[in-house]
Amino acid sequence: MLVCFPALSQAADYLYQPVSFTAVRVTGGFWQTKQEVNRTVTVPFALQQCEESGRLKNFDLAAEVMRRRAAGEPGFQVKPPTIFPFDDTDVYKAIEGASFVLSMKPDAVLEQQLDGYIARIAAAQEPDGYLYTFRTMHPDSPGHDWVGVKRWEKDPELSHELYNAGHLYEAGAAHFQATGKRTLLDICLKNAELLWRDFGDGKLRIAPGHEIVEMGLVKLYRVTGDQRWLDLAKTFLDARGPGGSAYNQRHKLVVDQDEAVGHAVRANYLYSGMADVAALKGDERYVTAIKKIWTDVVSKKLYLTGGVGARADGEAYGAAYELPANGYNETCAAVALMMWNHRMFLLTGEARYMDVFERTAFNGFLSGVSVSGDRFFYTNPLVYDGKATNNAGLAGRAPWFGCACCPPNLMRTLAALTGYFYAVRDEALYVNFYAQSEGEAKVAGTTVKLSQATDYPWSGKVQLMVTPATPAKFTVKLRIPGWAQGRPVPSDLYAYSEAITPAWTLNVAGTPVTTQPENGYVSITREWHRGDLVELNLPLAVRAVQGNEKIAATRAQVAFERGPVVYCVENVGGKTPLAGLTVPATVKSITTAARPDLLGGVTVLSIDGAVIAGVDGGAKAIEAIPYFAWNNRGLAPMTVWLSLKP
Ligand SMILES: [Zn+2]
Repeated sequence: MLVCFPALSQAADYLYQPVSFTAVRVTGGFWQTKQEVNRTVTVPFALQQCEESGRLKNFDLAAEVMRRRAAGEPGFQVKPPTIFPFDDTDVYKAIEGASFVLSMKPDAVLEQQLDGYIARIAAAQEPDGYLYTFRTMHPDSPGHDWVGVKRWEKDPELSHELYNAGHLYEAGAAHFQATGKRTLLDICLKNAELLWRDFGDGKLRIAPGHEIVEMGLVKLYRVTGDQRWLDLAKTFLDARGPGGSAYNQRHKLVVDQDEAVGHAVRANYLYSGMADVAALKGDERYVTAIKKIWTDVVSKKLYLTGGVGARADGEAYGAAYELPANGYNETCAAVALMMWNHRMFLLTGEARYMDVFERTAFNGFLSGVSVSGDRFFYTNPLVYDGKATNNAGLAGRAPWFGCACCPPNLMRTLAALTGYFYAVRDEALYVNFYAQSEGEAKVAGTTVKLSQATDYPWSGKVQLMVTPATPAKFTVKLRIPGWAQGRPVPSDLYAYSEAITPAWTLNVAGTPVTTQPENGYVSITREWHRGDLVELNLPLAVRAVQGNEKIAATRAQVAFERGPVVYCVENVGGKTPLAGLTVPATVKSITTAARPDLLGGVTVLSIDGAVIAGVDGGAKAIEAIPYFAWNNRGLAPMTVWLSLKP
């Protein structure tokens, strides 16, 4: 229901403008704990891993090869010592995440550390702007099977030259915005000038083999205002298809694509890039395509945890309803799905996209990092046998990976999460995400302070204090999550077992509001005064969920969730054997308990009436924990979907 198109074609950007992450900070509760662990453990850990794994050294080697050849050793080159030609991007993503952290909290030591890394990156850049360590350190012949003899020629397959450029640009924009320093940004612009010389004005038509350069170029455009970077982003989108591989979405022109296919991270980055270019260039055909693809994903290819990419083979989207419990669900695919859904919201102003965002954020995204912040999942299946080496060849959470795309991707997203909380269009403020926080937005020309007090997701009570600089009339739009309206997802892919009468309540300055949501939002239009209190109460009853009959893996199964949090049962210490475990379909016998001592502080479920075949004692109560917190207590079998008692 896109009513905005005539306007979009003239608009310079998204109609719904996000309130920057730098204008909002979490001040307590669930996400503060996660962001603090991210800042104090994950960021330094990831930077250290970039050093120890040799990823930073690749830049030094590329620089050394250039230096020694220039000094009279023409044959000198070095075989790339790390595994993948995209290893450079882990450094870029780590710098991006660290920059986001710096934006929120100045840290001279961290800033200096980044300066050192950036100097090493600069030294590895070739004089004409090319930056790709795997070629520069081994220039006489390809030093890796994926690298072409000539620049770019193997990019549509696996060289990842443009993928590296995309992550470089995202890091450069983030570092510039955090520090005001142009060091990394200038490296980006020198590289982008090369891209413009090689690809601009339709010179060389190459479909990037792993998308992200499109989003990266848009970030350069936003930072510099240079139209060429936006034009290049569109050039790369339009270079896809027809007739290429579906693995990386080159099977059709992007405007003709209507299903999510192929490598899930590549796909979701592509759809995000299409949204950006559509917003900035007003091309309706992109929006039509990504809306069709989104409908395909949420009605046929989305896990209950908000994960996507069912197949390990090709790290890919599966066929319709192909959602096996042991699905692949790469952490990066969850990150990319969040990016894409946020952009769909920014295009349309519809809450259903943020509903998907929220489901992914609390489940299939957050599961990617341990409570301690230094152990990670590359894959996020909904079942585990306690021993499989399905996490990129490892059993259980791992400290790092040979292909280490996921940890820094998660890290950068978590660091800038507050950028997803609010958005503004004209005289309306959109409240998309509930978390204890303080923020500020410009609405209807007035600066408005926004203070959320809540223990969400463990409590459904949200108190939002709205304080305009001077009394002003505008609209506050509160997202009423789909789960609070009886819909786990915006499709019939999953449904609650028991019909639910929406029972949320809303008071504004002490007066009940009974307006029904439109496009997922309840609108409150009034003259706002200092300290006006919005009290939203979302009832957090436990819900039993069933999958669509077409999903083979969830037939005769049930899963439990509470608010946006999906639960799982983990057989820690052998107390809850999962083989032969059956549970009642009803939630009547489920009780909840807050456990601040457990897994960083979680609310657990006690499911009474469970039966474990072959275990004496008849029906008993078993414990379920939030899915995101599994595998923090050693290797143990786990399952989200539970068999129904006959
Ligand atoms: Zn990844």
